[in-house]
Amino acid sequence: MAKIIDGNAMAAAIKTEIKTEIESGNLQVGLAVILVGNDPPSQIYVKYKQKDCGECGIHFYGYTLPEDTKTEELLELIDTLNADPKVNGILVQQPLPAQIDLTAANERISSLKDVDSFRADNVGRVMLGSYALPAGTPAGVMEMLKRENIEIAGKECVVVGRSNIVGKPMAMLLLHENGTVTICHSKTADLKAVCKRADILVVAMRQPNFITADYVKKGAVVIDVGINDAGEGAKGGRKLVGDVDFVSVEPAAGYITPVPGGVGPMTRAMLMRNTLTAKKLQEK
Ligand code: NDP
Repeated sequence: MAKIIDGNAMAAAIKTEIKTEIESGNLQVGLAVILVGNDPPSQIYVKYKQKDCGECGIHFYGYTLPEDTKTEELLELIDTLNADPKVNGILVQQPLPAQIDLTAANERISSLKDVDSFRADNVGRVMLGSYALPAGTPAGVMEMLKRENIEIAGKECVVVGRSNIVGKPMAMLLLHENGTVTICHSKTADLKAVCKRADILVVAMRQPNFITADYVKKGAVVIDVGINDAGEGAKGGRKLVGDVDFVSVEPAAGYITPVPGGVGPMTRAMLMRNTLTAKKLQEK
């Protein structure tokens, strides 16, 4: 039986630490979140961020722009927020409507306010190993491993997925901790054999319940980043499942993260932490 890593409890502890630091330093910290359009899941994610800010003592500045917003209009708002000293972090909720130039929006956010770490320079800093604002999801996974005292140095680490926001930075962060890292993707020849080598297996592939027990070495640490909509839940609302088949993998693994309640809340906690870090960087 695996130890189930409780991302909710860990995230709550991190948010309490952030709140304590903000209160004891009497700091004024602000996060601006821009939502373009009416995508219902995005609206929910923004509400969660607002709640997290409230729990941490971070001022939340929410902006909702219409679905037909032009890139220039979004950039103008970003410029205003870049110049506002009350705003320490800026986040543009994704996905964005098709007419918006996503790269232009990401790159327009001031480097020191880029709390999602989507700008090319901040991505590059993660690559170099000298960074202050790592992307939330990989940072959340690293924090989970650290708080569970899971050794990374010398371990076989396999990351399934190579996206710019999860897979690639995840691999870099594990490498910086001296893991021996392999990145897999849809063209990997024998995914099962590679996954089976892993002491630490991080799965971010957007494929519901894909990873079953036969992909997992006995006793491995299995981190499930995936969040997939699996239709209506038993008590109404949506049912969410990961990329790992929890029922099949849990008996084989040493540690496992659940979905929901695993990496998701840690990603959100890392956004709060990045916002506080951004405040400190801006005051230097
Ligand atoms: P992407 O869709 O951008 O990337 C998926 C990756 O998985 C790609 O690199 C793709 O390979 C690879 N892949 C897909 N199918 C296979 C396969 N059969 N075998 C091997 N590799 C495969 O996803 P993201 O990185 O944005 O997100 C991954 C998952 O994590 C999603 O479920 C997402 O919802 C979730 N997520 C969760 C977060 C959280 O806070 N917990 C935050 C962000 C994302 P290729 O490059 O070859 O196409």
